[in-house]
Amino acid sequence: MFCSKCGAKNNANSKFCMSCGNTLQKANTTNNSQPVMNNNVQPTNKLGQSPDFYTYLSAALIALTLLLWAIKPGIGVISGLFSVIAALMGRKHTTNRSLHTMILIIALVLTFAVFLGMVNSYNSL
Ligand SMILES: [Zn+2]
Repeated sequence: MFCSKCGAKNNANSKFCMSCGNTLQKANTTNNSQPVMNNNVQPTNKLGQSPDFYTYLSAALIALTLLLWAIKPGIGVISGLFSVIAALMGRKHTTNRSLHTMILIIALVLTFAVFLGMVNSYNSL
């Protein structure tokens, strides 16, 4: 067989080129089957790669915002903003658009409500 790097002729059983030391790979022409294309099988997604990751993230942040609203409204606004951002980022990827839109609206309304509550509490001081 011939070296793919330098073209030198080598013994058919050699693993390395006699001339340049390049690793020799046996040409496999007999069993050149086409790669199987299977679009039906969904790849197993990790959490961060799931198309609904941002939907869950946004929902979790909404819950966090509700919790923080009672304790620290200032942090609740930030958490609310993150939930809106997460919902906006996930809009392209989500597999359940109606649920996602609902979460986005809840995130927006909640963040606005927390913000108004925070402003009112500062004004009343
Ligand atoms: Zn070679």
